[in-house]
Amino acid sequence: ESEDYDAVIVGTGGAGLSAAIAAYDRGLTNIVILEKMAVNGGNTNYSSSGMNASETTFQKDQGIEDSNDAFAAETLEGGHDTGDPELVQFMCDNSAGAIDWLDGLGIKLDNITMTGGMSTKRCHRPTDGSAVGLTLVPGLMAAVEERGIPVKMSCEAKELLKDGDAVVGIAVDDKGKAKNLNARAVILATGGLGANQDMVTKYRPDLAGYVTTNQPGATGDGYVMAENAGAELIQMDQIQIHPTVEQETSTLVAEGVRGGGAILVNTEGNRFFDEMSTRDKVSAAELEQPGGFAWCVFDQQVYDANKAISKYDDAGIVQQGASVAELASAIGVDAAALADTIAAYNAITTDGAADEFGRTEGCIAFVDGNMYAIKVAPGIHHAMGGIRINTKNEALDASGNPIPGLYAAGEVTGGIHGNNRIGGNAVCDIEVFGKNVGEVVAEALA
Ligand code: ADP
Repeated sequence: ESEDYDAVIVGTGGAGLSAAIAAYDRGLTNIVILEKMAVNGGNTNYSSSGMNASETTFQKDQGIEDSNDAFAAETLEGGHDTGDPELVQFMCDNSAGAIDWLDGLGIKLDNITMTGGMSTKRCHRPTDGSAVGLTLVPGLMAAVEERGIPVKMSCEAKELLKDGDAVVGIAVDDKGKAKNLNARAVILATGGLGANQDMVTKYRPDLAGYVTTNQPGATGDGYVMAENAGAELIQMDQIQIHPTVEQETSTLVAEGVRGGGAILVNTEGNRFFDEMSTRDKVSAAELEQPGGFAWCVFDQQVYDANKAISKYDDAGIVQQGASVAELASAIGVDAAALADTIAAYNAITTDGAADEFGRTEGCIAFVDGNMYAIKVAPGIHHAMGGIRINTKNEALDASGNPIPGLYAAGEVTGGIHGNNRIGGNAVCDIEVFGKNVGEVVAEALA
């Protein structure tokens, strides 16, 4: 059985949904979106930090000074200069446009905060400060439905169809039925590989046994399909581990919790690192602590300011005490050591003391009363490498030539984050490049 489309978009995460909407709005209406899972949204559902963007209307309204060049420089620096400068600059230059575009779709990200590795407030979140993914996915889905763009759920893309060098469609398993979807363009927006242990260890044997924050459908299918069709995969060993993952439930404790003032202490009750440093460095520091874990400790102010925390509490992963001493006893940490640690930390804010670990961002003074802690360790979080693309989201072969008919966007692509992704940059990546690929394909096929 076969069906004919202008374009097939694989994946219902932020990248795929945005690609479909942007393509449709540029006149490409004979399209379909595929999702192999029974639920839509992919890992985008879990994205908590927000969307980094620079020179936005919301920043200007709030008096936050920023520049696209600074955003690009800090992104490249965060990735230790292993990202592709052209892709990064393109992402940053188009970030404000993507924020406005989302606003036009009814997705308002005007609550702006800071994430590790960024020098200013550029992480855009929903107005109430809640997790961005839970606003983004339903908002994009509503726009997809409004336009009548078909979404095939439980439909797994298996293999790209080729005619000579060109991609001319995709073979799928549509609820158990094999079909060929013929198309003039295929957009892979299949996300990452964190849920595929074999693939993770193929590229990174040292990550065997790590828990993952990824949804079960993040099995790296897009990499395999693209590589089989002649695309080059780059930086595949760059798999990001996130420093604050609760290990029993694989729950990611959002970066905003540290950004809002939380500290990391080891089982001896001592801080050991600048909590606002980049994910790779914080993860490495944690693994050096006794037992290879840390307690993410915070007070009532942090609890109240971050919507996500009550959900962690509902999931049963938040330890609590009515005072520092009670919390210490609840988590089996020396009470005097923890009290000293907190006093020293509070002095950064109250006395302007310099932090011995160099933390300058997101410091607060904890208030007396309820104290909380979540046990965290690193977990597999994000595939930074992937399909090699250019700023037109064309999938490239090893010589840098586009594979006709094949495009990719989002986590499945490589080159933007280099060897360390900044919190808030994945959503910027999927929105800028998701919107872009839709527009590019619509124009190419017009
Ligand atoms: P991004 O952030 O790049 O948009 P996500 O992880 O949010 O990526 O979304 C990718 C989506 O693609 C997920 O919902 C995933 O289940 C889906 N997906 C992955 N592989 C396939 C496949 N072979 N066929 C159809 N859908 C797929």
